[in-house]
Amino acid sequence: MEQSSLDTQLPAKQPILETTASSQLSHSQKVIRKLARKPVKLEWDESLLQKYDISGPRYTSYPTALEFSEVYQRDDYITCLEGIDPQKSLSLYIHVPFCQNICYYCACNKIITKNRDKSERYVENLIKEIKLVAQHLKAKTLRQIHWGGGTPTYLTLQEITRIMETIRNCFDIPDEDSTEISIEVDPRALKVQDVAKLASLGFNRMSIGVQDFDLKVQRAINRVQSFEMTQDMILEARKHGFQSINVDLIYGLPHQSLATFKSTLELIARISPDRISVFNYAHLPHRFKPQRRISDHDLPSAVEKLKIFEFIMERLQQVGFVYIGMDHFAKPDDELAIAQENQVLHRNFQGYTTHEEYELIGVGVSSIGSLGAQYHQNVRDVESYYELLEQDLLPTWRGVGMTMEDKLRKAVIFSLICHFEIDKNTINAQFDIVFDDHFAKELELLAPMITDGLVYDTGGFLRVTSRGRLLIRNICMAFDAYLNEMQVIKRFSKVI
Ligand code: SF4
Repeated sequence: MEQSSLDTQLPAKQPILETTASSQLSHSQKVIRKLARKPVKLEWDESLLQKYDISGPRYTSYPTALEFSEVYQRDDYITCLEGIDPQKSLSLYIHVPFCQNICYYCACNKIITKNRDKSERYVENLIKEIKLVAQHLKAKTLRQIHWGGGTPTYLTLQEITRIMETIRNCFDIPDEDSTEISIEVDPRALKVQDVAKLASLGFNRMSIGVQDFDLKVQRAINRVQSFEMTQDMILEARKHGFQSINVDLIYGLPHQSLATFKSTLELIARISPDRISVFNYAHLPHRFKPQRRISDHDLPSAVEKLKIFEFIMERLQQVGFVYIGMDHFAKPDDELAIAQENQVLHRNFQGYTTHEEYELIGVGVSSIGSLGAQYHQNVRDVESYYELLEQDLLPTWRGVGMTMEDKLRKAVIFSLICHFEIDKNTINAQFDIVFDDHFAKELELLAPMITDGLVYDTGGFLRVTSRGRLLIRNICMAFDAYLNEMQVIKRFSKVI
C-alpha cells in the first residue's frame, strides 16, 4: 500500500475539533487539539542508538522486581492490606497463567495446556484468594480491574463470570461507567460472538496480542493469527462499546524485515486501534527455553532492526499516533495521551496508567501488587499456589518495603519515563533535599548523555530531548541506586 493510502486512514475525530471554537471545547478536547497540532518529530540517530544499549529495566516499579526479597513474608502483606486507608480506591490485577499454544518468543511465566480441566482448580483457588484478600481490607472501592496472562480468555466464559461475580460481591464498584475493566485477548482463544458476553460482564477495554501479520514470521514464532481474525475481534469490541483497544506488536522477530513490517503496520493502521505497544524482541534462548525453537540465523540483523524501529517511530506518528514513551503509542484522544499532556501519567506493573493513586492488588500465580510503600508478589509455581490457598493461606512469595530514598528515586525515574523531565524544585520540596547535591554522582553519570544531546539541565529542570526519548531507560538507569556505576557504564556502552 502506498503512503498516501495510509494517510487516508487517520482517525476521524480530530477534524471535528478543528472546526469548533476554542471557548466551546472541554479541557480534554483542548488537550486533544493541542496534541493533534503538536509537532511530534523524534530525532533519529543511529550512531547514538548503537552507542547506548536500549535494553534495561522497564521500570514498571522502583525498586524493580529483582530487589524483591523472601524476607518479606505473608504477615507483612497482611499487615499492609489491613493498614490501607478505607477511603483509598483500589485497582485489581488478575493473572491467568494458561495458554493453549506456545509462542516461541515468549518469556512470560505461563502454563501451556490444551486440557481445559486444568483451569477448574485454578479458578477455585483464585476465587478463594480474592475473598481472603478482601477479608483483610477495609478499603472496598474498586475503580480499575485488569486481567492479564498468559491468556485470560483461556478460561471459559462461565469461569470468567464466576470470578467477576466474586469480585463484585467482595468489592464495591461505585461507578461502572468510569471504572476501567480491561482484558488481554488472544483472538485465537476467544470466539468473536463471545465479545458481547465480555461487555455484559463489564469489560470495556481490550488488549490484543498480534506481534506481526506476516505469515512466514507467524509460522516461525508458532503464532498464526490472520488479519481478518484480529480485525473481526476489534470491530466486535467497538460494536459492544469497548472504549480503548490496544494492540501489541514485536519487532526483531525471525524473518522480519523492513518490507514485512511495513505491511504489518499498514494493516494495523487500517484497523486503527487506540493504543499500540511495539516491543523489542530480546533473543535469550539460554534463559527462555521456547526461544530455542527460533534460529539465530532467521533473526533480522541489528541494522535491519534499527531500520524497522525507525520506520515504526516515523510511520505511527504520520498516521496519527502520539509517542507516549517506552514502546507505547496512543491516539491523541486516548486517555493515556491526554494524561501525559496533563502531567498526570503514571506507571505501574501494567505499564503506563492514568491512576497512580489507586492501591494495586495482584491476585493469581506470580502476580505483583503495589500497596502503600510496599510491593508484593505471589508464588511463581502453580502447585505452591494451590497448596497454600487450599490451606487458606495467602500465596505470598516475596516483596519489598520502600525506603524514603527508594520513594525519592521512584519519583525521579517515573517523572522521566512519564513526562520526560524532572522538576528539581518539586522534588526538593517533596523530599526535602537539594537535587544537585543529592544526585551529584548521578549528574556526573549523565554528563556524557548531556554531551550527546539526550538530556539537558536548565538548572531548575532536567529535560529529555527528542533523541533522548528513545533512550529513556538508559537515562533512568543513572538514578537507579541498585545498579552500580560499572553496570550502568557497561550497559551504556553495549552495542545493540
Ligand atoms: S505470548 Fe502470550 S499467548 Fe503466547 S505463550 Fe506467551 S503468554 Fe501465552
